[in-house]
Amino acid sequence: MDYQQILDDIYLQVQSLAGVGRQADYIPALAQVDPEQMGMCLETLDGDLFAVGDAQVRFSIQSISKVFALAMALSMEGENLWQRMGREPSGSTFNSMVLLEVEHGKPRNPFINAGAIVMSDILLERLPNPHRDFIHFVRALAGNDSIAYNPIVAESERSQGYLNAAIANLLKYHHNIKGDIEQVLRFYFLMCSVEMSCQELAHAFLAFANHRRPFDYNGVKLTASQVKRMNAIMQTCGFYDEAGEFSYLVGLPGKSGVGGGIAAFCPQRYGVAVWSPRLNSKGNSVVGMKALELLTTDTEESIF
Ligand code: GLN
Repeated sequence: MDYQQILDDIYLQVQSLAGVGRQADYIPALAQVDPEQMGMCLETLDGDLFAVGDAQVRFSIQSISKVFALAMALSMEGENLWQRMGREPSGSTFNSMVLLEVEHGKPRNPFINAGAIVMSDILLERLPNPHRDFIHFVRALAGNDSIAYNPIVAESERSQGYLNAAIANLLKYHHNIKGDIEQVLRFYFLMCSVEMSCQELAHAFLAFANHRRPFDYNGVKLTASQVKRMNAIMQTCGFYDEAGEFSYLVGLPGKSGVGGGIAAFCPQRYGVAVWSPRLNSKGNSVVGMKALELLTTDTEESIF
């Protein structure tokens, strides 16, 4: 498979989408990012790397961090995790409160904000040094020790984080947050503020592409069965209320973020990440979705 040729073709084809969509601006710091950037990187299980555009540029991973939080929470809680959240797609926006109220403070899944805020509470309670342990885990997965939080982005989001604060309050009311709401939210925003490049994300997601390889990164261990199950949640819940559309058009498990990044993988083949800040109305990168649709169409590889 000539992945480089395919990525080069994709890069040319997505130029026609220049200017389509809007970058997230509800987090003030994200409104400052140049929206005309685009990068893509694919790494195979054998370690071959293919890249185009701004694949080396770091960006705000935002909700992609929920995958890393889930890996940590699952490794510590095991099946008990599902007492505090579900694992069904929500069909509503990532920051919706509607279901949370109807379902008495039990988030539908770990990849909506409510679920990730509960995971933030779990990590704060269980980890000896949560801020350090989370970033060390991400660095180990990505194989790069310079990956870091961006405290300016985290603070910028916190300063306007009224909706997430409302979600946290509702969770606390229903006894699904044990710790202090303020600290739980601060850690949630910090996890969202991690900056990584497409190349680093593609490498990190290789860990999920091969569930038969032992998952053990900086002491975070998952069994093969747990990795498979995490992958199932990425497939069904990884793209907000567009998970069905993403399955239909792309056919890979993965996770998107409002920074414009999408990380995905093809089981037993590769990890891939694409980034471009302009989003569609559901909060997914316009160029990112198109690029991955073209990738699985051109390669004729997907989980289906
Ligand atoms: N930090 C963002 C928020 O809570 C993450 C959302 C996202 O990427 N979907 O709104």
